[in-house]
Amino acid sequence: MKTCTYCGRENEDRTTTCQECGTEFGRDSAPTTESPMESENTERFEKIAGLDNEVQAELMDAVLTERKIRHIMQSYHDSALDGLFQAGKGWGVILAHESSRQEILTALEDIRQQSSSAGPEDNNT
Ligand SMILES: [Zn+2]
Repeated sequence: MKTCTYCGRENEDRTTTCQECGTEFGRDSAPTTESPMESENTERFEKIAGLDNEVQAELMDAVLTERKIRHIMQSYHDSALDGLFQAGKGWGVILAHESSRQEILTALEDIRQQSSSAGPEDNNT
């Protein structure tokens, strides 16, 4: 049952407006089986890992896209993040669902090892 927040009357779940007063029921209070995808795009994304540079970001983007892991690359240069990640070093961060964290960290480690072995410096030790 849905309880009207305005008048308190109980209505059947499938009704979209209160039968007593006509108030529309929002989707926020009552979770339904049909999930509104558009509102879930970013809200649960968390910072998973930092990115050292743009090359690393592009490699990660390619790997995660190939594995169909939903993610967002956020560059520190993005003005929308001013004040939010200013203390961070490097190029930016990967945002993704918590459930993808381990897979993303593993992929990032692979990429870092590949790029470090190709470079003149070895930071592993
Ligand atoms: Zn009502």
